[in-house]
Amino acid sequence: MELFKQFKVFQKQQKAYGMVLSIASWDSNTEAPKKCFPHRAEMLSIISGEHFSLMTSKDYQEVVNALIERIDEFDTLKKKEIITAKKALDKIVKIPKEEYVEYSKLINISQRIWEDAKEQDDYDIFKPYLKRIIEAKKQHIAYRTDQNDKYNVLLDDFEEGMSMELYDQFFGAIKEELVPFVKTVLEKRKDTDDGFITDTYDKATQKDFVEYLMEVFDYDYDRGLLKESVHPFTWNTHSQDVRFTVRYLENFVFSSIFAAIHELGHALYEQNIDPALDMTNLNGGASMGVHESQSRFYENMIGRSKAFWEAHYPKLQAMFKTQLRDVSLDDFYRGINKVDETFIRVEADELTYPLHILIRYEIERMIFDEGVDLEELPSIWNAKMKQYLNIEPTKDSDGLLQDVHWSAGMFGYFPTYALGSAYAAQIYYTLIKEIDFERLVRENNIEEINQWLKEKIHCFGSTKKPLEILEMVTGEAFNPSYYIQYLKEKYSKLY
Ligand SMILES: [Zn+2]
Repeated sequence: MELFKQFKVFQKQQKAYGMVLSIASWDSNTEAPKKCFPHRAEMLSIISGEHFSLMTSKDYQEVVNALIERIDEFDTLKKKEIITAKKALDKIVKIPKEEYVEYSKLINISQRIWEDAKEQDDYDIFKPYLKRIIEAKKQHIAYRTDQNDKYNVLLDDFEEGMSMELYDQFFGAIKEELVPFVKTVLEKRKDTDDGFITDTYDKATQKDFVEYLMEVFDYDYDRGLLKESVHPFTWNTHSQDVRFTVRYLENFVFSSIFAAIHELGHALYEQNIDPALDMTNLNGGASMGVHESQSRFYENMIGRSKAFWEAHYPKLQAMFKTQLRDVSLDDFYRGINKVDETFIRVEADELTYPLHILIRYEIERMIFDEGVDLEELPSIWNAKMKQYLNIEPTKDSDGLLQDVHWSAGMFGYFPTYALGSAYAAQIYYTLIKEIDFERLVRENNIEEINQWLKEKIHCFGSTKKPLEILEMVTGEAFNPSYYIQYLKEKYSKLY
């Protein structure tokens, strides 16, 4: 149909601009020198202005709206493309262009300001920017809807179908079941000889091991790239270009190993999406939560299992002869699953991790749903750390300044991290019923696990909604009790 062809032309133009902006952000986060940013923000704001015009032009709007009227004439895939486009359009169409451009400039600069604030441990530097970002977000929501519960809009943006009501149930279970369980685990902790964890491991050999892991997990080099960055992340435009980063810390070798496995989880997901979706608006993963379920599955269920290291510990030991010579597999396994109360989310272990997210969820909910004095944020943060983890940061760089997300305007994103782990646990209990998971991991046959996940989850890209995928795979609606069960089973054995 002529109309649909027009639609595809518009979509391709938008994708082209989106790709340029995206590749600029890859560059910002990997190689761009520090001083380039002010000019760069100025120039990129022009591109994002053009991008915005394309995404909201009258002609494009007319085409999308006309297609929506004739939606029943299309097959399932095209229908989904049209509906996804309409949803994206409704999100931004009412924002005046100047405000959109102003906002993207604000976000670009705020991330640099946040870096300075964190470095100098000075919340006051960041506070005025945070205030402007929150006001802009609220204004954007007000353009879209007169809905009062603004935080629900943000939550749904990152994870379609999720709301404060559902998250309250989820985090309620975490508070009730996990917080006391973490306390008992921490009390049972004994002093063990795990100095090897913070021994010195040279960066070049760490990189060799990461490259070995890329082979183990069957990552396709011809459709990807590995670089270094301060915060590891995965980047992609479509299934043929899926890159990721790690960082190498000389005194914490687990950082590069587990960041690599985590990011490989994201990257395999993207590489396994049906290439027929590449040039459509359905080409990425289903949602943040589903994405995180995959990265957490690879990192924790595979990467932190005993079976995995039965296969790969000899290799690591051979690469770091002096550091690991006297470390048994059992000690190593206990080391990679060590539970500790820590200030920093990205350094947190699998068990205490959701408590870090709980804190962020409660604070974001306060900001958008209840209203809170930004002056008070550091003390609110610290009080919650005390309540859930029984430690209190003495500086804001260990507290609310630690994460980049708010400076990038990403409110509503954090909860998907914990949600992803919970999805992963629910998926795990289905998977182990259908394939001999432990044996495959022990025999270094990750490909068969990849294949299962590809068929059940990855290949669909975003043609299905997150909660729909979960139900398809597990035969059940989202149920947080699997997550609690998984953590309790694993850590009761360890502690
Ligand atoms: Zn992730």
